[in-house]
Amino acid sequence: KDAKAAPLTKEEVGRATWMLLHTIAAQFPDEPTRQQKRDVKELMHIISRLYPCKECADHFKEVLKANPVQAGSQAEFSQWLCYVHNVVNRSLGKPIFPCQRVTARWDPEYGNIELNGRRLKE
Ligand code: FAD
Repeated sequence: KDAKAAPLTKEEVGRATWMLLHTIAAQFPDEPTRQQKRDVKELMHIISRLYPCKECADHFKEVLKANPVQAGSQAEFSQWLCYVHNVVNRSLGKPIFPCQRVTARWDPEYGNIELNGRRLKE
């Protein structure tokens, strides 16, 4: 049955991707190792090359060129990610997300993360 499930829409892939990225950012170490910094930078560049929507990938390459990945700490990476997500939001006419709220929105320790439409920690 699952094999016949409809493929995802562009919106669903986008939402799932941002969810993964913001969740990674929320749990990124305060003092990342050189390897961890390299890994998130590579992850963002790989997404900009392999993202399964060509116009999105091409646009995101330009966004990364103008805004090099900042991953010196958890706070720096999550703020950077919020900023570039807002660049994409703006280009799509979506509301700008207030970046001072990223922890409240995405940090599972904070207790506010929503998965499958429900809160993980009440
Ligand atoms: P999404 O933008 O998917 O956001 C999901 C949730 O994240 C929101 O409900 C909100 O709670 C939270 N959020 C929103 N903004 C922020 C922020 N700045 N920081 C933290 N949390 C936030 N679609 C296109 O049509 N054209 C494109 O060129 C395009 N480029 C994309 C590039 C990338 C790298 C990615 C991952 C996606 C791209 N998309 C693009 C998809 C698009 O960004 C959305 O994911 C999709 O339109 C669904 O939008 P949404 O309203 O569900 O919210």
